[in-house]
Amino acid sequence: MNEPYITAERAVELVRWWAPRLGLAHWQISVAMTDDPEKPSGACWISDRYSAATLHLSSVAATNISQHDHDAETTLVHELLHIANRSQHDEIARVYRQYVPKPERNLAWKRYDLFHEGGIEQVARALVLTRHGLPDEMMIPVIGATP
Ligand SMILES: [Zn+2]
Repeated sequence: MNEPYITAERAVELVRWWAPRLGLAHWQISVAMTDDPEKPSGACWISDRYSAATLHLSSVAATNISQHDHDAETTLVHELLHIANRSQHDEIARVYRQYVPKPERNLAWKRYDLFHEGGIEQVARALVLTRHGLPDEMMIPVIGATP
């Protein structure tokens, strides 16, 4: 059997290291692992009311697309950044619902979400590269930026 991409113990350890550094020290963040290759490498369920969240991480899904050794940590930080950015994201969703007419709303939201996800991923990767002193060349290109 292959080594898991990331273990639950390692994920909990990483949450303990990252959460206070992302302003989430008072959050109850639990980790749920899956080994279903059809699931995304990471997802996050957030309960603002209880300052609680569950990170759903795949122990297998990302192995095939792994580009560097810190991809699992990047996925975990990416999901934590969703928690840290939840208010901004919710407010933008509210504005879209209120001001963007329905026929265009889905397309506009998909476009916003693409940039939002790209931005979250870039910050996650930059943080992980910086923590481990890894070279800038491992950074991903900026989505939507002119060359
Ligand atoms: Zn995301």
